[in-house]
Amino acid sequence: MTSRSITIVGAGHSGLQLAIGLLDAGYDVTLISNRTPEQLRNGPIASSQCMFDAARGHERDLGLDLWPDAPTVDGISFTVAPPQAQGIKATSWAHRLDAPAQSVDQRLKFPAFMELFEARGGTLIYEEAGVHDLERYAAKSELVLVAAGKGEIAQLFERDSGRSQHAEPQRALALTYVHGMRPREEFSAVNFNLIPGVGEYFVFPALTVTGPCEIMVLEGLPGSDMDSWKGLGPEEHLENSLRILRTYLPWEAERCTDVQLTDPNGVLQGRYPPTVRHPLATLPSGATVLGMADVVVLNDPITGQGSNNAAKCAAAYLDGIVGRGDRAYDDAFKRGLFEDYWTYAKHVVAWTNTMLAPPAPHALQVLGAAQENAAIAKRFANGFDHPPDFADWFMSEEAAAAYLVSFESER
Ligand SMILES: Cc1cc2nc3c(=O)[nH]c(=O)nc-3n(C[C@H](O)[C@H](O)[C@H](O)COP(=O)(O)OP(=O)(O)OC[C@H]3O[C@@H](n4cnc5c(N)ncnc54)[C@H](O)[C@@H]3O)c2cc1C
Repeated sequence: MTSRSITIVGAGHSGLQLAIGLLDAGYDVTLISNRTPEQLRNGPIASSQCMFDAARGHERDLGLDLWPDAPTVDGISFTVAPPQAQGIKATSWAHRLDAPAQSVDQRLKFPAFMELFEARGGTLIYEEAGVHDLERYAAKSELVLVAAGKGEIAQLFERDSGRSQHAEPQRALALTYVHGMRPREEFSAVNFNLIPGVGEYFVFPALTVTGPCEIMVLEGLPGSDMDSWKGLGPEEHLENSLRILRTYLPWEAERCTDVQLTDPNGVLQGRYPPTVRHPLATLPSGATVLGMADVVVLNDPITGQGSNNAAKCAAAYLDGIVGRGDRAYDDAFKRGLFEDYWTYAKHVVAWTNTMLAPPAPHALQVLGAAQENAAIAKRFANGFDHPPDFADWFMSEEAAAAYLVSFESER
């Protein structure tokens, strides 16, 4: 029997993982990339890509854990820093993760995965896919997937207004990759700092093209003092990052007295509206293509879930496609693949949108209680690995109240 042919547009996280998974399962896979490994390696950063254990497990399953010595992220710390009381922590706690997370710069990861895909027998084609190209792929392949992230081609997939809470960007995003930051004491962590009314700052260790580094993620509320990146060159961008820390988070600024940019491409500025899209796009010929990961479920990075989602979406699609055997890839099947993934992804969307909103009193109460109660801190920290858990104790006033009361009966 000849193997079934599948084309994937986009050699980013989800496209590469699915392509390699399908190849290993005996499919004939073509991957379309608008960038070469060389261009990716020497290009700008795109993400902070911190991945937790379940997502990393999907990579391990395919032999994609290629950086065993990369720095690990061993915990989560959470601090509330009211801007009106500068330099004071209203809430502050930290807890270890049950299993470490890790961030490997996509400039390292994607080229390595592309080379591995080709070495295992996949076909990699370099072109910027447009509608005509999708028609071509659909004529030649039994299934076409679009894994183009925030690429323009994602616009072919209609926004799902019932599932999208926002039409506008919710944060001005900035990334700053640095060397020379003083490591966090006790254990490495995502240090998450919430500055109500201004934005969020989180920072953690990673591996980049120039070696181990720390990634500073700044999420400014539109129009706030943290929405101040426009027109800045790389050194000015670093200086603005440090200015924000000195103003609102002096304990983080203290770690940064000797920092330098990892490289001139180690900065990013941007904003986009979090968007859920319909999973199928219909081409002029009537053929349909299926979207995956950020194309169909694009979250703000405030909860650091996009790469995790990409890995989980790729794993879910791989299972579904392999499970389909020889049967046709009709529209009902394609829609079903997405809906199965959505049963997970909807929780990530709900939690991420909650974290983007002004903190609800019940959320602040639970996060404040975590300072005194290690069980709560542990559960919140490990929720990053499995966000559906938040529904049971964090997402609503009732669930949070019931959860807090459950500790009283333990006393
Ligand atoms: C500031 C910031 C911080 C982040 N931090 C984290 C984090 O800490 N943890 C986390 O889990 N996630 C994080 N993310 C999100 C994460 O990086 C993405 O969600 C993830 O990479 C999405 O994977 P994907 O496969 O959907 O798309 P991508 O990984 O973006 O890949 C898409 C690929 O498709 C290519 N492409 C686009 N259009 C075309 C075309 N027409 N033809 C051919 N190729 C095309 C692109 O060049 C790209 O290589 C962050 C994102 C941002 C913006």
